[in-house]
Amino acid sequence: MRIAVVADVHSNLEAFEAVLQDARESGGFDVVWSLGDIVGYGPDPGACIQLLLGLPHVAIAGNHDYAATGAIGTEDFNPLAAEAARWTAAQLTLEEQVWLAALSAVQIEGEFTLAHGSLIDPVWDYLMSSEAAYEHLMRQTTPYGLVGHSHVPGVFFQTRSGAEAADPIDTPLDDQRFVANPGSVGQPRDGDPRAAYSLIDTEARRLVFRRVPYDIAITQAKMRAVGLPQYLLERLSLGR
Ligand code: ZN
Repeated sequence: MRIAVVADVHSNLEAFEAVLQDARESGGFDVVWSLGDIVGYGPDPGACIQLLLGLPHVAIAGNHDYAATGAIGTEDFNPLAAEAARWTAAQLTLEEQVWLAALSAVQIEGEFTLAHGSLIDPVWDYLMSSEAAYEHLMRQTTPYGLVGHSHVPGVFFQTRSGAEAADPIDTPLDDQRFVANPGSVGQPRDGDPRAAYSLIDTEARRLVFRRVPYDIAITQAKMRAVGLPQYLLERLSLGR
């Protein structure tokens, strides 16, 4: 099976479409796994949900998804994220809100555990350190884990007594346990503005990290047109 793993699409339709096109041109995919935050920040929440729903998919919830349904409050969001969350909620249909609200925070798919943040706190925790990765891996019952939320691609391998961070490069599905973050489709924060995602091939036993350029100016123009905060559109060009 070939899996396109997307995280933190954040209502960025141009980035999402570019990633799916790249996946099709890179051997295709049987299913899309969405690691949460399909909405929030960007200008096309409904269109991104509909694009995902039109494909074979597995989806879990992120903090922005729950916030857009009122399932969690926005008190813990920074002011611009909270403003975007309120705008997002107003754009969604009732059906889209019901779908988001019903998403699980954690899901196991075969050899993989999917969570937005980490297994320490599936919705909120940022998996950024080896210490946190080790704590996560201790809770992970499958050999491999996939998380989003930090918008920074990379992988933590389990070692004898901890976890070790590695760059986002091809990762074999072998006997070394890991938790990987494909990076963010719609709002990368590692200094590279290109959309990030991963492709998994369970037969070739490999996870590959991909970066895809997309027309950032179109997304920014849409954000400007609907009055989303200036900083949120500027950061797309910077990958921050
Ligand atoms: Zn996010």
